[in-house]
Amino acid sequence: MATIETALGAIPESALGITLSHEHVLVFMGAENHVYPWLFDWEQTRERVIRELTEAKAGGIATLIDLTTPDLGRDVRFVAEVAEASSMNVVVATGIWRDVPRSFWERDPDKIADIFVREIEVGIGDTDIKAGVIKVANDAEGVTPQAEPVLRGAARALIRTGCPISTHQWAPKEVGRRQVEIFQEEGAPMERICIGHSADTTDVDYLKELLNAGVYLSMDRYPGRPGRPDWRQRNATVKALIESGWTHRLMLGHDYAPGPVMAGVEAPEAKRSGYLHLAAVALPALRNDGVSDEDIDTMLRDVPRKFLTGKNSQRPA
Ligand SMILES: [Zn+2]
Repeated sequence: MATIETALGAIPESALGITLSHEHVLVFMGAENHVYPWLFDWEQTRERVIRELTEAKAGGIATLIDLTTPDLGRDVRFVAEVAEASSMNVVVATGIWRDVPRSFWERDPDKIADIFVREIEVGIGDTDIKAGVIKVANDAEGVTPQAEPVLRGAARALIRTGCPISTHQWAPKEVGRRQVEIFQEEGAPMERICIGHSADTTDVDYLKELLNAGVYLSMDRYPGRPGRPDWRQRNATVKALIESGWTHRLMLGHDYAPGPVMAGVEAPEAKRSGYLHLAAVALPALRNDGVSDEDIDTMLRDVPRKFLTGKNSQRPA
């Protein structure tokens, strides 16, 4: 049986359970948690994250794919601590988000791949926590000259290790198309790649074009973002793809992160965790619209397991 690396070590694929495709445990743009730690109330932040992970776990979520990179303040020790306290499986990421460090601009893609491979095979920083996924990101600016070597490095790290890639794309400008092209140029196995934030568009033809290239889509950012499709529109897009026969390539998520809580600020009042919008609101509505429990189970269990392990094994009945 295949194993999957998490913040608390390798777990058997049978332990994955319901898995959200694109989430964060904590996000700090520009790694402000490491650079300006006094800005944050660490006690309240830790309490809040543990509370929300515990609530998500009680709500049926067994695993989060945490796509937090160094330029988003990745702190795998913190993740391991809250994962342990909440019994949540958290798959952590190597890779780079939108803020490609200056030191990467002139770096050869093979050298970038070396960095990612080290975090996949040996560990992140001076820990033995291994990355289980490679994250890359291209937003409205498209794939810039600084970002392209990162994509190529990610593709080469996937080829060398078998660790899958999950992307952030700006779907309204169809940025995933260029991501797919670069991965194809590198000869990467498309069935180990997921193009993310794909529910930020309602253009089903564009999404089918990506699917026809052989990738997975992460239909995430539930319940929506300002100026982008709301959760009902996201559901409609998911349903249209299911009806076109693409259930086996779709995953679901929120791109949610609880906190952080800033120093000197009261933690916000506890409300339903953002990890549970799908379970509490969007999925019941999809079922009401005629999507079967089996299709929903496929998107929440089978597809993430296939994506993470690269294996097509059957779930026990
Ligand atoms: Zn994200």
